[in-house]
Amino acid sequence: MAEESIRSRWEAWEEQTLSPYATLSKNSRGRAREIEPCEIRTCFMRDRDRILHCKAFRRLKHKTQVFLAPLGDHYRTRLTHTLEVSQIARTIARAMGLNEDLTEAIALGHDLGHTPFGHTGEGVLDRLVPGGFSHNEEGLRVVDKLENDGQGLNLTFEVRDGIVNHPKKCHPATMEGKVVSLSDRIAYVNHDIDDAVRAGVLTSEDIPDSCRRRFGNTHSERINSMILDVLRASRNTPAVTFTEEAAEEFDRLRNFMYENVYFNPIAKREDEKARGVVEALYTYYLDHIELLPEEFLLHLGEDGAQRITADYIACMTDTYAIQQYQQLFVPAAWN
Ligand code: MG
Repeated sequence: MAEESIRSRWEAWEEQTLSPYATLSKNSRGRAREIEPCEIRTCFMRDRDRILHCKAFRRLKHKTQVFLAPLGDHYRTRLTHTLEVSQIARTIARAMGLNEDLTEAIALGHDLGHTPFGHTGEGVLDRLVPGGFSHNEEGLRVVDKLENDGQGLNLTFEVRDGIVNHPKKCHPATMEGKVVSLSDRIAYVNHDIDDAVRAGVLTSEDIPDSCRRRFGNTHSERINSMILDVLRASRNTPAVTFTEEAAEEFDRLRNFMYENVYFNPIAKREDEKARGVVEALYTYYLDHIELLPEEFLLHLGEDGAQRITADYIACMTDTYAIQQYQQLFVPAAWN
């Protein structure tokens, strides 16, 4: 009899240990192109590793969270945001008996489709590209078509579903996808408070009283009490949610952040320029499509010039976009 693989032991462990609401790796709906199973890792562990090793993941370090290309070392970028989402989501998933590997894979991949300059860049492409543009749908293009020299990462259905359905308005097919969606919001509201205080846009005393009473006064108290509340409301249920009272305070806190930080003219003072950079690059590369790298041009026939130009711009980091803009539109001094 063939020796049992380490992977099949993990699969058996999942079946015996996890909640009835968890997604078992052995029941995955699989990949677009079937591959030989790994000896050691389940399909979701493997997807997590494929994401961690891809180029788009490394580019997250130079993409805006809220503050554009911040010079201070302690501001969040998309990469640190992604890691904080992963931490919160894994804590919740483990406590609920859900599949932690699937949760981690979705969390690490959820923002791979973000443009340079965050939602500002996303808004420009959405306006310019026929059919619209959103970072979650772009995330799916990154893992399906753009990564791995244009071949895609060939991820499982469940990870792809969690990536494209992570925004609040969407409905992920798995509990693990729901955990990441809520953890994304918990992560950004909290770290954006921290960054806004660091930037002098807020003081912690500005946070509405009822939110401070409900969630606490420090970054760690707030994350901890939010996670505990989600577990209280969701354990042994097929939902991932806050209790009603906490949901109300969380919405209040989120609205407070929209009014005071996300739409704050100090935090957003460079936005108009960022919009100009993204628009100029999109227009230029649409006119010079032959300059796009091969992994984008591969998809020209299938997806058309506008979509692949948007792919190319979306993949740029803040720093690369600014550098490209300078090279293309700002005359260099003679030397
Ligand atoms: Mg996110």
